[in-house]
Amino acid sequence: MATYEFDLLIVGAGPAGCTLALNLAGTGIRIAMLEKDVFPRHKICGDALSGKVLNVMKRIPGNVYERFINEVDKIPSWGIRFTAPNHHFADVPFLLNRDEGQPAPGYICRRNDFDNFMFERLKEHPDIQIIEGEKIELVISDPDQVVAKTQNHEYRGKVIAGADGVHSIVRKSQQNNLVDKKHFCLGIRGYFENVGDLHPENFIELIFLKRLLPGYFWIFPSTGGLVNAGFGMMQNRISECRENLSQILKDIISNDPLIAPRFSKARIVGKAEAHTLPLGTYKFNQFGHRYILLGDAAFLVDPFSGEGIGNAMASGEIAAAILKQNFINNDFSADSLKPYDTRLRRRFSQEFRTMSVIQHLAHSAGLFNLVVDKASKNRAVSELLTAMYSNDNIRKKLTRPGFYMRLLFS
Ligand SMILES: Cc1cc2nc3c(=O)[nH]c(=O)nc-3n(C[C@H](O)[C@H](O)[C@H](O)COP(=O)(O)OP(=O)(O)OC[C@H]3O[C@@H](n4cnc5c(N)ncnc54)[C@H](O)[C@@H]3O)c2cc1C
Repeated sequence: MATYEFDLLIVGAGPAGCTLALNLAGTGIRIAMLEKDVFPRHKICGDALSGKVLNVMKRIPGNVYERFINEVDKIPSWGIRFTAPNHHFADVPFLLNRDEGQPAPGYICRRNDFDNFMFERLKEHPDIQIIEGEKIELVISDPDQVVAKTQNHEYRGKVIAGADGVHSIVRKSQQNNLVDKKHFCLGIRGYFENVGDLHPENFIELIFLKRLLPGYFWIFPSTGGLVNAGFGMMQNRISECRENLSQILKDIISNDPLIAPRFSKARIVGKAEAHTLPLGTYKFNQFGHRYILLGDAAFLVDPFSGEGIGNAMASGEIAAAILKQNFINNDFSADSLKPYDTRLRRRFSQEFRTMSVIQHLAHSAGLFNLVVDKASKNRAVSELLTAMYSNDNIRKKLTRPGFYMRLLFS
């Protein structure tokens, strides 16, 4: 079996793995990017890139953000339309004041295009060696090194970063945890043409149907005149249903009184596809002897919104900062990698706690109806929801019972 030696092995060239590699490029660390697929690879997603994604991208060296803005096919997004179970809606702009010519605060960009754009950036760095089309099947570590094995090859490194998604082989090889269903959401999406009544300003739409709570149905305008539409549902709720995800999707677009009229002339392009989202409600060690976990492999998806790309990239950025120090000290013990876990918790713990309380509250259709009704009539409430996307203190407000009591009587 052929053997290859590197300093850092990264498994998975999604947003988490690429962000880590690009932030370490040029530091002298010899990086192997090990990816099972061949890019441009297929990825099931809602394709919504939030401000978090853009902020991390702005800090990646090499004008990555500017090139993304100028070179990649995408739709700008200026806000969210929330539709409550009672069918009332509220438009919540991402920005309270918008200047002429200002870049959008968010985008909808097909993952095949976005991920391929990030992947292409890797090729600009000679110290990143890309190994595509080889699946890592086992990861073993000993006191001196870590080894990632494919069917025909062995890749050896000082440390390994598992950025290999929800079914991470790095996590499974190093930890043997059985994770409760309540920490997973399942999402299904399809691309459709001829969907009616799209938002005039390309706001993304989150439609809270009673049968999906605390999940929602989404309609996101996409490139090529298509729409990315689908829904997310907690895994434990799906187990209670008699139907599978495709049947539920079909039923919603054919029969739901709010959605069906908009899909009456629509046609699906390709097929509807589903995948799992690992939620940030699951707490475990995202590091150990000679390994760290990033993105979906580390359960970093927002428990309420289902957003995972920005968090995956943020974990890549944090990992790069920590690993630089590990390489200086030439120490990859569990103790020396603990600061990664600490930084990750500092960055996400409060946010995930808050969003999981909001996720619990979102089981109540009545509460949704109340918030959306007030937001549609009351500018202050709408502005509060706008601020929720950038301000953790505002998010915390939404978890307190007093907030809803005041709303009721306002
Ligand atoms: C239906 C759905 C809709 C979603 N919508 C949104 C959205 O609109 N906005 C948002 O922010 N998030 C969304 N998410 C979440 C988002 O897709 C993920 O959180 C994000 O892709 C995580 O990035 P990552 O880099 O951690 O993992 P991934 O993007 O999954 O990348 C992992 C990479 O690892 C590779 N890999 C896996 N196993 C191996 C192996 N054994 N060997 C080698 N390579 C391997 C894979 O091929 C892949 O390229 C959605 C998820 C789903 C399922």
